[in-house]
Amino acid sequence: MIVDIHTHYLQYATDFKEPFFSDLKRCGILQQSWDYTERDYLLGTAEADRVIVFGLKGKKTGWEGNNSRVADFVNRHGKKYIFFTSIDPNEEDYMAQLERDYKELHCKGVKLGPIYQGIHPLDKKYYRIYEYCQQYGLPIITHMATTFSSGVPLEYARPLYMDKVACDFPKLKIVMAHMGHPWEAECIAAIRHQPNLYADISALYYRPWQFYNTMRLLEEYGAGNKVFFGSDFPATTTADSIKGLLGVNKIIEESNLPKVSDKLIQLILYSNPIKELEIE
Ligand SMILES: [Zn+2]
Repeated sequence: MIVDIHTHYLQYATDFKEPFFSDLKRCGILQQSWDYTERDYLLGTAEADRVIVFGLKGKKTGWEGNNSRVADFVNRHGKKYIFFTSIDPNEEDYMAQLERDYKELHCKGVKLGPIYQGIHPLDKKYYRIYEYCQQYGLPIITHMATTFSSGVPLEYARPLYMDKVACDFPKLKIVMAHMGHPWEAECIAAIRHQPNLYADISALYYRPWQFYNTMRLLEEYGAGNKVFFGSDFPATTTADSIKGLLGVNKIIEESNLPKVSDKLIQLILYSNPIKELEIE
Protein backbone atom coordinates (compact mmCIF):
# COMPACT_ATOMS: atom_id res chain seq x y z
CA MET A 1 0.00 0.00 0.00
CA ILE A 2 1.28 3.46 -0.90
CA VAL A 3 0.25 6.37 1.33
CA ASP A 4 0.84 9.91 0.07
CA ILE A 5 1.11 11.88 3.31
CA HIS A 6 1.34 15.35 1.82
CA THR A 7 -1.11 16.87 -0.70
CA HIS A 8 -2.79 20.27 -1.02
CA TYR A 9 -6.41 20.79 -2.05
CA LEU A 10 -6.67 24.50 -2.88
CA GLN A 11 -8.62 26.70 -5.26
CA TYR A 12 -6.51 29.23 -7.15
CA ALA A 13 -9.33 31.72 -7.68
CA THR A 14 -10.25 32.03 -3.99
CA ASP A 15 -7.51 30.69 -1.70
CA PHE A 16 -4.59 33.00 -2.51
CA LYS A 17 -3.85 36.68 -1.87
CA GLU A 18 -0.76 38.81 -2.26
CA PRO A 19 2.18 38.37 -1.74
CA PHE A 20 1.57 34.78 -2.97
CA PHE A 21 1.31 35.86 -6.64
CA SER A 22 4.38 38.10 -6.68
CA ASP A 23 6.39 35.44 -4.79
CA LEU A 24 5.46 32.82 -7.42
CA LYS A 25 6.59 35.16 -10.17
CA ARG A 26 9.80 36.23 -8.44
CA CYS A 27 10.87 32.60 -7.93
CA GLY A 28 9.95 31.61 -11.50
CA ILE A 29 7.20 29.15 -10.50
CA LEU A 30 4.50 28.68 -13.12
CA GLN A 31 1.05 29.85 -12.12
CA GLN A 32 -0.56 26.78 -13.74
CA SER A 33 1.17 24.48 -11.27
CA TRP A 34 -1.03 25.98 -8.50
CA ASP A 35 -4.08 26.56 -10.71
CA TYR A 36 -5.67 23.10 -10.83
CA THR A 37 -9.11 21.53 -10.85
CA GLU A 38 -10.53 18.79 -8.65
CA ARG A 39 -10.09 16.42 -11.59
CA ASP A 40 -6.37 17.37 -11.79
CA TYR A 41 -6.08 16.66 -8.06
CA LEU A 42 -7.74 13.24 -8.42
CA LEU A 43 -5.48 12.32 -11.35
CA GLY A 44 -2.41 13.66 -9.55
CA THR A 45 -3.02 11.40 -6.56
CA ALA A 46 -4.35 8.39 -8.52
CA GLU A 47 -1.24 6.24 -7.87
CA ALA A 48 -1.67 6.38 -4.09
CA ASP A 49 -3.87 3.96 -2.16
CA ARG A 50 -4.45 6.43 0.66
CA VAL A 51 -3.88 10.20 0.69
CA ILE A 52 -3.64 12.81 3.43
CA VAL A 53 -5.10 16.10 2.20
CA PHE A 54 -5.17 19.65 3.53
CA GLY A 55 -5.33 23.26 2.35
CA LEU A 56 -2.91 25.70 3.92
CA LYS A 57 -3.57 28.78 5.99
CA GLY A 58 -0.96 31.49 6.39
CA LYS A 59 -2.42 34.98 6.29
CA LYS A 60 1.00 36.67 6.40
CA THR A 61 2.09 35.13 3.10
CA GLY A 62 -1.26 35.07 1.27
CA TRP A 63 -2.38 31.46 1.83
CA GLU A 64 -6.06 31.20 2.69
CA GLY A 65 -7.06 27.56 2.28
CA ASN A 66 -10.63 26.58 3.11
CA ASN A 67 -10.85 23.69 5.61
CA SER A 68 -14.58 23.14 5.14
CA ARG A 69 -14.06 22.68 1.41
CA VAL A 70 -11.31 20.10 2.02
CA ALA A 71 -13.57 18.25 4.48
CA ASP A 72 -16.39 18.31 1.93
CA PHE A 73 -14.07 16.91 -0.76
CA VAL A 74 -13.04 14.06 1.56
CA ASN A 75 -16.66 13.27 2.38
CA ARG A 76 -17.48 13.04 -1.34
CA HIS A 77 -14.56 10.71 -2.10
CA GLY A 78 -14.84 8.01 0.51
CA LYS A 79 -12.13 6.19 2.37
CA LYS A 80 -9.12 6.96 0.18
CA TYR A 81 -8.66 10.56 1.38
CA ILE A 82 -7.89 11.63 4.95
CA PHE A 83 -8.67 15.18 6.08
CA PHE A 84 -6.16 17.28 8.04
CA THR A 85 -7.18 20.80 8.98
CA SER A 86 -4.85 23.78 8.65
CA ILE A 87 -4.84 26.22 11.55
CA ASP A 88 -3.32 29.73 11.47
CA PRO A 89 -2.66 31.20 14.93
CA ASN A 90 -2.87 34.70 13.41
CA GLU A 91 -6.64 34.28 13.38
CA GLU A 92 -8.18 35.32 16.67
CA ASP A 93 -10.53 32.34 16.93
CA TYR A 94 -7.95 29.75 15.86
CA MET A 95 -8.51 27.48 18.87
CA ALA A 96 -12.27 27.55 18.31
CA GLN A 97 -11.65 26.65 14.65
CA LEU A 98 -9.48 23.72 15.73
CA GLU A 99 -12.17 22.50 18.11
CA ARG A 100 -14.83 22.78 15.40
CA ASP A 101 -12.71 21.06 12.75
CA TYR A 102 -11.98 18.20 15.14
CA LYS A 103 -15.42 17.76 16.69
CA GLU A 104 -17.63 18.62 13.70
CA LEU A 105 -15.54 18.11 10.56
CA HIS A 106 -13.67 15.14 12.08
CA CYS A 107 -10.15 16.09 11.00
CA LYS A 108 -7.58 13.38 11.65
CA GLY A 109 -4.64 15.72 12.13
CA VAL A 110 -3.44 19.30 11.82
CA LYS A 111 -1.26 21.03 9.23
CA LEU A 112 0.88 23.98 10.37
CA GLY A 113 3.46 26.19 8.69
CA PRO A 114 5.35 28.74 10.81
CA ILE A 115 7.21 29.96 7.72
CA TYR A 116 3.85 30.80 6.09
CA GLN A 117 2.22 32.05 9.27
CA GLY A 118 5.03 34.29 10.52
CA ILE A 119 5.01 33.00 14.08
CA HIS A 120 7.92 31.29 15.82
CA PRO A 121 7.32 27.54 16.26
CA LEU A 122 8.04 27.90 20.01
CA ASP A 123 5.49 30.73 20.43
CA LYS A 124 2.81 30.18 23.08
CA LYS A 125 0.10 30.39 20.39
CA TYR A 126 1.48 27.22 18.79
CA TYR A 127 1.92 25.66 22.22
CA ARG A 128 -1.87 25.82 22.70
CA ILE A 129 -2.29 23.88 19.44
CA TYR A 130 0.38 21.31 20.42
CA GLU A 131 -1.34 20.86 23.79
CA TYR A 132 -4.75 20.31 22.18
CA CYS A 133 -3.39 17.89 19.58
CA GLN A 134 -1.53 15.89 22.20
CA GLN A 135 -4.67 15.67 24.33
CA TYR A 136 -6.84 14.37 21.47
CA GLY A 137 -4.21 12.24 19.74
CA LEU A 138 -4.09 14.40 16.59
CA PRO A 139 -0.77 14.21 14.70
CA ILE A 140 0.76 17.39 13.30
CA ILE A 141 2.37 17.89 9.89
CA THR A 142 4.38 21.10 9.95
CA HIS A 143 6.28 22.71 7.09
CA MET A 144 9.88 22.71 8.31
CA ALA A 145 11.73 23.78 5.16
CA THR A 146 12.33 26.82 3.04
CA THR A 147 9.67 28.08 0.60
CA PHE A 148 9.16 30.67 -2.14
CA SER A 149 6.78 32.67 0.09
CA SER A 150 8.55 35.76 1.45
CA GLY A 151 8.37 38.16 4.37
CA VAL A 152 8.83 35.68 7.22
CA PRO A 153 12.18 34.75 8.84
CA LEU A 154 13.60 31.56 7.33
CA GLU A 155 14.67 30.67 10.84
CA TYR A 156 11.07 29.68 11.73
CA ALA A 157 11.51 26.64 9.48
CA ARG A 158 14.41 25.10 11.41
CA PRO A 159 13.85 21.48 12.46
CA LEU A 160 15.77 22.13 15.69
CA TYR A 161 12.73 23.93 17.14
CA MET A 162 10.48 20.93 16.61
CA ASP A 163 13.05 18.82 18.44
CA LYS A 164 12.32 21.03 21.46
CA VAL A 165 8.54 20.75 20.91
CA ALA A 166 8.87 16.96 20.72
CA CYS A 167 10.54 17.06 24.17
CA ASP A 168 7.82 19.26 25.64
CA PHE A 169 5.00 17.10 24.20
CA PRO A 170 6.27 13.52 24.31
CA LYS A 171 2.91 12.04 23.28
CA LEU A 172 2.40 14.37 20.32
CA LYS A 173 3.36 12.87 16.93
CA ILE A 174 5.00 15.45 14.68
CA VAL A 175 5.92 15.12 11.01
CA MET A 176 8.37 17.69 9.62
CA ALA A 177 7.59 18.17 5.94
CA HIS A 178 10.24 18.18 3.21
CA MET A 179 13.07 16.77 5.41
CA GLY A 180 13.76 20.28 6.70
CA HIS A 181 15.59 21.39 3.54
CA PRO A 182 18.11 23.03 3.47
CA TRP A 183 18.68 21.63 7.00
CA GLU A 184 18.27 17.97 6.07
CA ALA A 185 21.10 16.89 8.39
CA GLU A 186 19.49 18.73 11.30
CA CYS A 187 16.14 17.15 10.47
CA ILE A 188 17.62 13.64 10.31
CA ALA A 189 19.44 14.14 13.61
CA ALA A 190 16.17 15.30 15.22
CA ILE A 191 13.95 12.44 13.97
CA ARG A 192 16.54 9.93 15.14
CA HIS A 193 16.82 11.74 18.46
CA GLN A 194 13.11 11.92 19.40
CA PRO A 195 10.76 8.93 19.19
CA ASN A 196 7.72 11.13 18.39
CA LEU A 197 9.36 13.09 15.57
CA TYR A 198 9.08 12.10 11.89
CA ALA A 199 9.67 13.62 8.45
CA ASP A 200 8.33 13.35 4.89
CA ILE A 201 10.24 13.36 1.59
CA SER A 202 7.67 15.35 -0.37
CA ALA A 203 8.82 17.83 -3.04
CA LEU A 204 12.49 16.84 -2.90
CA TYR A 205 13.25 14.45 -5.77
CA TYR A 206 13.37 17.22 -8.39
CA ARG A 207 16.56 18.58 -6.82
CA PRO A 208 18.40 15.34 -7.57
CA TRP A 209 21.79 16.10 -5.99
CA GLN A 210 20.23 17.34 -2.76
CA PHE A 211 17.78 14.43 -2.73
CA TYR A 212 20.53 11.85 -3.25
CA ASN A 213 22.59 13.37 -0.41
CA THR A 214 19.56 13.45 1.91
CA MET A 215 18.86 9.78 1.22
CA ARG A 216 22.51 8.83 1.79
CA LEU A 217 22.52 10.71 5.12
CA LEU A 218 19.34 8.90 6.11
CA GLU A 219 21.05 5.63 5.28
CA GLU A 220 24.12 6.45 7.35
CA TYR A 221 22.06 7.52 10.39
CA GLY A 222 19.75 4.53 10.03
CA ALA A 223 16.69 6.76 10.41
CA GLY A 224 14.72 5.69 7.33
CA ASN A 225 12.02 4.11 9.51
CA LYS A 226 11.02 7.64 10.62
CA VAL A 227 10.40 8.96 7.12
CA PHE A 228 7.15 8.92 5.14
CA PHE A 229 6.45 9.10 1.43
CA GLY A 230 4.66 12.15 0.02
CA SER A 231 4.30 14.24 -3.13
CA ASP A 232 3.29 17.79 -2.07
CA PHE A 233 0.70 17.86 -4.87
CA PRO A 234 0.42 20.17 -6.85
CA ALA A 235 4.21 20.72 -6.60
CA THR A 236 4.51 17.18 -8.01
CA THR A 237 2.18 14.21 -8.50
CA THR A 238 2.19 10.93 -6.57
CA ALA A 239 3.29 9.08 -9.73
CA ASP A 240 6.22 11.41 -10.43
CA SER A 241 7.30 11.27 -6.78
CA ILE A 242 7.35 7.45 -6.87
CA LYS A 243 9.43 7.62 -10.06
CA GLY A 244 11.75 10.18 -8.47
CA LEU A 245 12.28 8.04 -5.37
CA LEU A 246 12.94 4.89 -7.39
CA GLY A 247 15.38 6.85 -9.55
CA VAL A 248 17.36 8.47 -6.72
CA ASN A 249 20.64 6.81 -7.82
CA LYS A 250 20.41 8.03 -11.40
CA ILE A 251 22.56 11.08 -10.74
CA ILE A 252 25.55 8.97 -9.54
CA GLU A 253 25.19 6.16 -12.08
CA GLU A 254 28.49 6.94 -13.83
CA SER A 255 30.47 7.37 -10.60
CA ASN A 256 31.84 5.32 -7.74
CA LEU A 257 29.73 7.16 -5.16
CA PRO A 258 27.75 4.93 -2.77
CA LYS A 259 24.22 4.04 -3.85
CA VAL A 260 21.08 4.55 -1.83
CA SER A 261 20.00 1.01 -0.97
CA ASP A 262 16.89 -0.54 -2.41
CA LYS A 263 15.95 -1.46 1.15
CA LEU A 264 15.75 2.22 2.18
CA ILE A 265 13.85 3.19 -0.98
CA GLN A 266 11.24 0.47 -0.39
CA LEU A 267 11.04 1.30 3.33
CA ILE A 268 10.03 4.89 2.55
CA LEU A 269 7.84 4.10 -0.47
CA TYR A 270 5.75 1.64 1.56
CA SER A 271 5.87 3.55 4.85
CA ASN A 272 2.55 3.61 6.65
CA PRO A 273 1.86 6.88 8.50
CA ILE A 274 -1.77 5.83 9.08
CA LYS A 275 -0.58 3.06 11.39
CA GLU A 276 2.53 4.78 12.78
CA LEU A 277 0.75 8.05 13.63
CA GLU A 278 -2.33 6.13 14.89
CA ILE A 279 -4.61 7.99 12.50
CA GLU A 280 -7.00 5.01 12.29
ZN1 LIG B 1 3.15 21.34 1.17
